[in-house]
Amino acid sequence: MSTYFISDLHLDEKRPDITRAFFDFLHGRAAGAEALYILGDFFEAWIGDDDDAPLVEEVIRELSHYSASGVELYLMHGNRDFLLGSDFAQRAGATLLEDPTALSVGGERMLLMHGDSLCTLDKEYMAFRRQARDPNWQRQLLSKSLQERRAIAAQIRMASKSMNSRKAEDIMDVTQEEVERVMLEHNVHRLIHGHTHRPARHALTFNGEAAERIVLGDWDKNAWCLKANKGSLELLHWPID
Ligand code: MN
Repeated sequence: MSTYFISDLHLDEKRPDITRAFFDFLHGRAAGAEALYILGDFFEAWIGDDDDAPLVEEVIRELSHYSASGVELYLMHGNRDFLLGSDFAQRAGATLLEDPTALSVGGERMLLMHGDSLCTLDKEYMAFRRQARDPNWQRQLLSKSLQERRAIAAQIRMASKSMNSRKAEDIMDVTQEEVERVMLEHNVHRLIHGHTHRPARHALTFNGEAAERIVLGDWDKNAWCLKANKGSLELLHWPID
């Protein structure tokens, strides 16, 4: 049986083609899998588990059928959907994972992350990340009405778009220093993350041994996944039409 890793689908009412491609993935390639790990930015935005948008209900319905079929389903927060909570996870039949999480798949240890915390040169974003992960800040935000939260989410998205267009390309990527620090801390030779939208397999030498950083792709023109099966790993993509 295979285990799959995906991230950065950025599910959004404006992109029904991506939602459809994801449901096709659950019914097709990923049907009957051992486990599915969704490593953040599953949704383009998340304003709270009480969101009654049709897309949310549709996704919960598909995920709950999928997990009920016997597939272990895991969810990690991204920088867009950091407010995903235990209500959503419970309704979807998923387990929320800490970022980072180290685990063994097919006897091989790996570290799973969303990847935003690896982009340490982006000081402005790192400051926002600290604020956004603060329980008090989250509680205050969640106490606002759905309408107010929708407006705030739209503002954050617009601010982040104009901010990112001003930022140099390289500060949006991971820093090697932080990659090595976190791999050493968790004593792993393989790191899997998303976030940067730069899908690739990077061979590293780490403590004199071969190591690897695998970057998952975002779902846009193509869908991406990492497939783990009997100790082999494949980074796969196919067109979204
Ligand atoms: Mn992200």
